[in-house]
Amino acid sequence: MSYVVIATDRVAEKGLDPILEDGHFEVHRINESSSDEFSEILKRAHALIVRSATKVDASMINAAPELRAIGRAGVGVDNIDLAAATAAGVAVYNAPGGNTIAAAELTMALMLSVVRRVPSADRSVRAGNWDRASFRGVELRGRTLGLIGAGRIGGEVAARCAAFGMAVMAYDPYIDQNRAEELQIELATVDEVIDKADVISLHVPLNNETRHLIDEGALERMKKTAFIINASRGGVIVEADLAAALHEGVIAGAALDVYEDEPLAADSPLRDAPNLVMTPHLGASTQEAQVSVAWEVALSLKKALVEGDMSGALNASGLA
Ligand code: NAD
Repeated sequence: MSYVVIATDRVAEKGLDPILEDGHFEVHRINESSSDEFSEILKRAHALIVRSATKVDASMINAAPELRAIGRAGVGVDNIDLAAATAAGVAVYNAPGGNTIAAAELTMALMLSVVRRVPSADRSVRAGNWDRASFRGVELRGRTLGLIGAGRIGGEVAARCAAFGMAVMAYDPYIDQNRAEELQIELATVDEVIDKADVISLHVPLNNETRHLIDEGALERMKKTAFIINASRGGVIVEADLAAALHEGVIAGAALDVYEDEPLAADSPLRDAPNLVMTPHLGASTQEAQVSVAWEVALSLKKALVEGDMSGALNASGLA
């Protein structure tokens, strides 16, 4: 039996090796899901691999009568209609671990950029200046990192910050003392992290507990000298409150990779906030992460189609 797979959205080819090198798969790399070729192959496709651009909605799922599995080479599955997939008996997979190092390293890049004011200094040099006095920074060594969320990415950030000589405290109600000891971090309440940390770094999912967790009140309670970094999900910080806090010098600085609405609105108050470093959701954008997430879903699809094992699917419990 040969399984037909469409890989779209420029999924990293090297990451498809687990299915390309297996005799069971006929793999079509079609980057445009609006093309006639895509619609034609979709009619006989058993699996689909996407990143974030292709919207896998009910009509796409219903146009693929043979479809058994969808793989998202990345974490978020907002572009996949999970209910429609489950109703059609189609397993949906993501790749939660493939981005971890990329996101942790971007967090370090943001942290170092904001405490040493690298982007502003770069802009100043390019504008023809040689202004050293305006860009005096602070050291990470001896300061306290306050993690909110100590899962995969938070854990990697903790290890890197420890290597920089920081003490690490974390608020994560869902990890136990063993994990805290393994990570060599001190567990704390959310209030303790907000009150005491010199650098707060957010690594939580966006849910009802974390939405707008960092608002005007939380920012006011932070140290005036503290920084906050968000490379998790937009919506954890109230953006208008952060912009106001930066303008008023309530905290020392911030760095963001993610926003409540992406792309960030042209008139967002963040765009002219001082002491703020921003990147356009680059956490997973490394060559290695793109290969790694494709590899992770390719292995899942192989297990699902060849072995009939769908246990790792996000919607496994809803599948017959
Ligand atoms: P993870 O599931 O391994 O860790 C999340 C941690 O948050 C868990 O330990 C969980 O217990 C904790 N948590 C859940 N609810 C909490 C709450 N209310 N308060 C405190 N802690 C809470 O996830 P991860 O792989 O480390 O990813 C963390 C975040 O980073 C996710 O939002 C993910 O979507 C995001 N992410 C962003 C990028 C990017 O491009 N910037 C890339 C990868 C992941």
